[in-house]
Amino acid sequence: MTLDEATKLDAADPLASARARFELPDGVIYLDGNSLGALPAAAAEALATTAERQWGEDLIASWNKHGWIDWPTRIAAKLAPIVGAKPSELLIADSTSVCLFKLLAAALRARPGKRTVLTQRRNFPTDRYVAQGLAEMLGLTLTAVPAEDVLAAIDGDTAVVTLTHVDYRSAAIHDMRAINDAAHAAGALTVWDLSHSAGAIELDLTGARSDLAVGCGYKYLNGGPGAPAFLYVAQALQGELRSPLQGWMGHAQPFAFDDDYRAAPGIRSFLTGTPSILALAALDAGLDTFDGIALRDLEAKSRALSQLFVDEVEARCGREVTLASPRDPAKRASHVVFAHEQGYAVMQALIDRGVIGDFRAPDLMRFGFTPLYTRFEAVVRAAEILGDILTARAWDDPRFLERKKVT
Ligand SMILES: *Cc1c(COP(=O)(O)O)cnc(C)c1O
Repeated sequence: MTLDEATKLDAADPLASARARFELPDGVIYLDGNSLGALPAAAAEALATTAERQWGEDLIASWNKHGWIDWPTRIAAKLAPIVGAKPSELLIADSTSVCLFKLLAAALRARPGKRTVLTQRRNFPTDRYVAQGLAEMLGLTLTAVPAEDVLAAIDGDTAVVTLTHVDYRSAAIHDMRAINDAAHAAGALTVWDLSHSAGAIELDLTGARSDLAVGCGYKYLNGGPGAPAFLYVAQALQGELRSPLQGWMGHAQPFAFDDDYRAAPGIRSFLTGTPSILALAALDAGLDTFDGIALRDLEAKSRALSQLFVDEVEARCGREVTLASPRDPAKRASHVVFAHEQGYAVMQALIDRGVIGDFRAPDLMRFGFTPLYTRFEAVVRAAEILGDILTARAWDDPRFLERKKVT
């Protein structure tokens, strides 16, 4: 595709105007919104207002006056259309890892007698570590099978199936509905990690009959570095499941200062401690970037951008890199990965030329196509630059070979 043709696609893009909702530096092609979403144009002012006007002027009265105490549920409600759930099923809290711990532990407590936690091999490390730790603590078995074997591995001993919906490496998507149905038929519960799904593709937690889910606030949701995460508990389970991390914010009356814990009704019982208000202010602005956006358009653009990149890269340098994502675009979410023996150095050379993606060991170059702000024209240019770097072996430079702490 020529740059001219790509520019025409941008002109016809129903999401084109959403790009103005972000601050993006000139001269940079940002293909890493799947790792850290770009800065929403409204975020800096939201942070300043919260700090200067609210914290600065109204001090502690802000908890009531500005409703801070309800921000974890008020802001979570904005996620409802993004993940296909009811506002009352969602909460902003903690980090993804901590939310996962809470929901996994709650689910395991609700399935006494069953001894297996089922996940997939090569699931995201934190998801594996949290599950390993809990299984050890509770004397259960953690079973990890290849992604394609998950359905067949569910049996009567399975207490919980926990999976990342979209693989962080390959972008392969699990069939959420099929796995939920199989788990339920076996009497098990499911806990989904939506970190690479929410804000990237269409989700329907209700329609898929999902039990529990968590997800990341700083990737496609644009909540800022280290943004709080979200958790989802299906309405039907809210009476049955109990948070394992009972804190005062999850108490029915935190300011009664009772000696004994009494769970708050509904999703609030999954709160633990005092929410980080400044971080919530940024996440609020991040979620507002989805205002009026149809998820169908979002998913269609994710696919169109990533497919264009695959086609352009393979046309230019198909012999030097190997697609490590599903070839069928319907089986991928928003990002794609290409393997190259010197993937780390190639990615550093790309970043040096203003094309920002990331690297995932051992040899994967990952490119994210955040549909709200990525242009078709940028995708063609990124593929051109990658082609140049590989042809000229520009990556073969000591500057690009030394590994940094964050890849
Ligand atoms: C990014 C990501 C996380 C992040 O976990 P934190 O606790 O928020 O650092 C968790 N799971 C998956 C699948 C991710 O991609």
